[in-house]
Amino acid sequence: MALGLYNKKRNFSKTPEPKGKVSHQQKNLYIIQKHAASHLHYDFRLELNGVLLSWAVPKGPSLDPKVKRLAMHVEDHPVEYGSFEGIIPKGEYGGGTVMLWDKGKWYPEDKDPVKAYHEGHLHFRLKGKKLNGRFNLIRMKKGDDKSWFLIKSNDDYAKPIDEYDITEEEPNSVKTKQTMDEIAENYKAIWDKAGLKKAPAKKKRLAAKTSQRRKQSS
Ligand code: MN
Repeated sequence: MALGLYNKKRNFSKTPEPKGKVSHQQKNLYIIQKHAASHLHYDFRLELNGVLLSWAVPKGPSLDPKVKRLAMHVEDHPVEYGSFEGIIPKGEYGGGTVMLWDKGKWYPEDKDPVKAYHEGHLHFRLKGKKLNGRFNLIRMKKGDDKSWFLIKSNDDYAKPIDEYDITEEEPNSVKTKQTMDEIAENYKAIWDKAGLKKAPAKKKRLAAKTSQRRKQSS
């Protein structure tokens, strides 16, 4: 559990995502971010030992215990990432709109969650605004750390998917109630405005002009 890979993948002068620092808090945060990158997916995150363990779930969570949702294990994220909503610029890693889709707490049901995680099976309860009750993250096979399944356990919160598909019924931000399109538009407007005041960009343009002039005169 470390943030080297997270920091390596991102250029923090170009993305508004937080720079990775291992946190000393222990709040058992649970987060899902809906992320319209090259493909729409849901980033499922659980705070453990100062970072957010992260899985990209292409189809998002389901409340149906019969439905296994593929969950691709991705790099640990900083805890501050858990409040991020906005847009990652095009061309940057993960470029696209990020919505805070659900948030709350998770409660491990394994005696030693760190050990359970390394062994490839996490059992836990969620207390979120959208997801509640017992869930499992299960590694598909030993030796392949990438592919896991996210599966609901059978409890009072379970519902058959043909009766209730939570990603369709609850599409919007848990933070701002905004849709993906609204987030994209609003953050673009904020940044366009902020961009006008950015001195470094101006300097760069000036430098480019100067070098152009130099080239023309030589
Ligand atoms: Mn993502």
